[in-house]
Amino acid sequence: MDLTEMKADPVHQAERRSGSPSREPIDDLPQAGAAGGKKQAAAHQAGGLDVEEIRAAFPALRQEVSPGVPLIYIDSAATSLKPQQVVQAVLDYMTIYPANVHRGLHTLSERATEAFEGVRDKVARLLGVEDSGQIIFTRGTTEAINLVAQSWGRATLKPGDAIVVSELEHHSNLVPWQMLARERDVELKYVELTDDARLDLDALDAALTDRVRLVAVTGMSNVTGTIPPLERIVEMVHARGARVLVDAAQSLPHHRLNFGRLGVDFLAFSGHKLFGPTGIGVLYGKRELLEAMPPVSFGGSMVVRVDRQRAEWNEVPWKFEAGTPPIAEAIGLGAAIDFLSQLSAQDLAGHERALLTHAHEVLGQIASLRILGPADLEQKGAIVSFTMGGTHPHDLAQLLDRHGIAIRAGHHCAMPLHVRLGIPASARASFSMYNTIAEIDRLGVALESIRLLFRRHSHGQVAPRPATHAATEFPNG
Ligand code: PMP
Repeated sequence: MDLTEMKADPVHQAERRSGSPSREPIDDLPQAGAAGGKKQAAAHQAGGLDVEEIRAAFPALRQEVSPGVPLIYIDSAATSLKPQQVVQAVLDYMTIYPANVHRGLHTLSERATEAFEGVRDKVARLLGVEDSGQIIFTRGTTEAINLVAQSWGRATLKPGDAIVVSELEHHSNLVPWQMLARERDVELKYVELTDDARLDLDALDAALTDRVRLVAVTGMSNVTGTIPPLERIVEMVHARGARVLVDAAQSLPHHRLNFGRLGVDFLAFSGHKLFGPTGIGVLYGKRELLEAMPPVSFGGSMVVRVDRQRAEWNEVPWKFEAGTPPIAEAIGLGAAIDFLSQLSAQDLAGHERALLTHAHEVLGQIASLRILGPADLEQKGAIVSFTMGGTHPHDLAQLLDRHGIAIRAGHHCAMPLHVRLGIPASARASFSMYNTIAEIDRLGVALESIRLLFRRHSHGQVAPRPATHAATEFPNG
């Protein structure tokens, strides 16, 4: 791929590239551009990816945080940066065809409808599922999981049933189940983790009694980066006749699995972590489940007929999409998937693995720094959360910002996981395709200087540091 060419003419590039949709999942697509030809020779990072070319596609990386201090963005687990191609696709919709979808018979509305509905096909290909009617647009992962809880959950679960989650889960994959469990008198069970925060399959096996109707599990922890063995989990859960929901908010930007082949029943993800805009996400569900599920939000678009007292629901997926959908956001997500599909999944994985390995090496050398989660890097993705003795994670984040380094600190919306790890909060560096080995080296240097600053402070040699936050003060992570 020539990303600089794409920058110059993003709309036409995107149109040309999306012109002949293939039914094959993205990891099986023949890879052109970045993975092959002349560009390969220019690749200068591990994994065969031309990182400088990738970086040039992300305008946010051209800025300095303060004069002379370039941005090092390692907070991609919170939200990813957006390539110019995505910005341009949203801008084009806003400026050229900003019409509503479905209802209009005029040219602009038809164009908007075509672009919007076309994104379902792109998502289906990304996930490796055949039927794009199984793709429901939501505002994000959180709304997608709530939809399953409020629709499938309320329609299916009976008192005495059980739902299983893991201790790794984000609040978005916990609280909707807590609410449902309370409402339906259902038990909410937790699969315990090993001490290095891996999901224990023996514990899962023990939790899978005949009462279990659903296992809701993350594809990748947003704190420890743990990647649970999904294939094995789906096999085990299906063997007991229960359903599997995968929270792919963190995993999808890094690992493109064929979820159709894997056989997951539900999957949720957010566009904004996948190089797309905020305000758009996806719920994938197996058709037979979606057909049987009642809608939970009511109004225009989700009906085919309305009389004075009752209404008839539209077909799946529109039955679940009441009101004007997030059109610009969906079109942006489509452009993000186009962008991603031009890159070799293998090269991306190789690059991120190199970043993760280097981050473990560099951070592992800093005294009093504890990396959370699996020591075996095969079992985790490109997230490194840590604590550093004597420093509060919020202070670390604030001081790193002075070096231009953007990380996240807090409980990262995973409080039960932090309780399991025995800490109130952590600092998190999360990497993406646009990060470099040199940036990780700068993170290491900055952390070491902060460590020394705190050590001098504790010996009474330096002036006050940023306010230390009490454990109870943490806002959402
Ligand atoms: N699950 C995981 C694992 C996440 O990391 C996040 C976002 N931090 C969510 C769910 C929620 O995503 P959103 O806020 O986009 O709905």
